[in-house]
Amino acid sequence: MLKYFNYDIVFQEVPDEVTLAINISNCPNHCKGCHSPWLQEDKGEILNKESLITIVKKYINDITCVCFMGGDNDVVSVEDLSNVIHSTFQDKKTAWYSGKESLPNNISINSFDYIKIGGYKQEYGSLKSKTTNQRLYKIDRINSNKEDITYRFWKK
Ligand code: SF4
Repeated sequence: MLKYFNYDIVFQEVPDEVTLAINISNCPNHCKGCHSPWLQEDKGEILNKESLITIVKKYINDITCVCFMGGDNDVVSVEDLSNVIHSTFQDKKTAWYSGKESLPNNISINSFDYIKIGGYKQEYGSLKSKTTNQRLYKIDRINSNKEDITYRFWKK
């Protein structure tokens, strides 16, 4: 089961998209130096098909993408909800910010338009750091390809 702590419109998390970012709690990753420790707690409201659609409808004319921030405690539900977005709002893309080191075997990359993989490691820095261990992939859902676009966060 997924719960969300809050949500917001963001502009930098997914390049070229206006994104509704949904912050999911119960994070199991325990990254050292976690920037959002409250998301490790069992807090918030239930995030399911009904609540997700209600939230997205509020911003339907403002956003191009819905991003699941976390959800590593229940990856199958994240994938299911991403598919709900694609089937309910055909013009919206989806993104998943996972703290896992690799995509779980039971998840298809084709369920998302963007996937961020990798936990936060202080020594390597955030996505804005050229030394980051994290990777943001843009998914070609028709051809099942992924392109590493992490460089888009780096200032030249
Ligand atoms: S994945 Fe994010 S929220 Fe979870 S422990 Fe790591 S930094 Fe904190």
